[in-house]
Amino acid sequence: SIQYNIMNMLSSPSLNKRDIVSILKMDTREEMDALQSLAMEVKQERVNRIVYFRGLIEFSNQCRKNCFYCGLRKGNKGVNRFRLSEEEILKAADFAHENRYGSLVLQSGEDQSEDFTDFVCRVVKQIKSRYDLGITLSCGEQSEETYHRFFESGAHRYLLRIETASPDLYEKWHPEDGKHRFVTRLNCLKSLKKIGFQVGSGSMVGVPYQTYEDIAGDILFLRDMRVDMMGIGPFIEHSGTPFYRSEAYSIRQEERLGLTLRMIAILRILLKDVNIASTTAMQVLDKFGREKGLLFGANVIMPNLTPLIHRKDYLLYEDKPCLNEDASQCNNCLEARIASVGETIGYGEWGDPLHFFRRT
Ligand code: SAM
Ligand code: SF4
Repeated sequence: SIQYNIMNMLSSPSLNKRDIVSILKMDTREEMDALQSLAMEVKQERVNRIVYFRGLIEFSNQCRKNCFYCGLRKGNKGVNRFRLSEEEILKAADFAHENRYGSLVLQSGEDQSEDFTDFVCRVVKQIKSRYDLGITLSCGEQSEETYHRFFESGAHRYLLRIETASPDLYEKWHPEDGKHRFVTRLNCLKSLKKIGFQVGSGSMVGVPYQTYEDIAGDILFLRDMRVDMMGIGPFIEHSGTPFYRSEAYSIRQEERLGLTLRMIAILRILLKDVNIASTTAMQVLDKFGREKGLLFGANVIMPNLTPLIHRKDYLLYEDKPCLNEDASQCNNCLEARIASVGETIGYGEWGDPLHFFRRT
């Protein structure tokens, strides 16, 4: 049967890019159903049908980088740059606590200043002194020493997408100025693991120049790096970036969501007890994109807790959903959506990935 073939391929020690491409290209109804039920079986068995909320606080959009795909890039002069105050961040943490979210994600552009590091450490300590919330940071590449300080202050998870596992493709997506190096990013992931963080990584799907082969490479990379958490999302273009209206696509726009779903399913089957996010970018392409993510194996959703007045300044891409809904409205809408796909919310729990404890 199709299920048997997929399982056979994915459990083989000699699994290679060609096998994965063949699964990524499956497109009949029967094939998609088979992949989806396999992923859901593993999910049910290994992580249960529980969705964990991570309240997302986009606390600064100041960034030293110029990634060709991202609306926050330094070269985009149309962005009003901000950093939330400690009070604003603590208010968002209050909300997360009151609504029984288990964890927070503090995300920002890449700022390597001393002042930024001090700020992050101070805020993390403050939150930890008030609440028993899990804290994830996603502040780009930093020195090992800075990562240490983040960890010591109480953050225990870190998200750093590799973006693409192909060094050649990485070069095509970033300027050649010494600040955007694949090896640096890779070394950051290694440092984070060494320090003891639960580490998350992932990639984008459907960026110019990217092929199915590259995506298969991303899957193998995430498997071999043994990351605990995964964030995969479709690429969505932004008019303030060099990749706006690019002609260098090899993956068609309509393929992105389906490909992301297939990737999530394959990663669930391969890596089993990791946490996989159903990302906001999926909801941009399809009203029910995030629900679909849950039904292909994802188990984490990141409701946005960034104060409304700053959301419009944190646009990685345009048409970001929920720009005008505050966190409590968002909550109601999400609860209904999650119940509609038959899952429950893991209120009050950190929801650490079991994979981490197996690995350490
Ligand atoms: N600056 C940090 C970093 O790059 O790791 C964290 C913030 S950054 C905005 C978070 C993620 O957004 C990136 O890892 C990238 O994968 C994603 N992203 C950036 N531009 C995007 C776009 N146009 N479409 C979809 N995702 C995008
Ligand atoms: Fe900055 Fe991150 Fe956007 Fe790159 S992806 S420009 S590092 S915010």
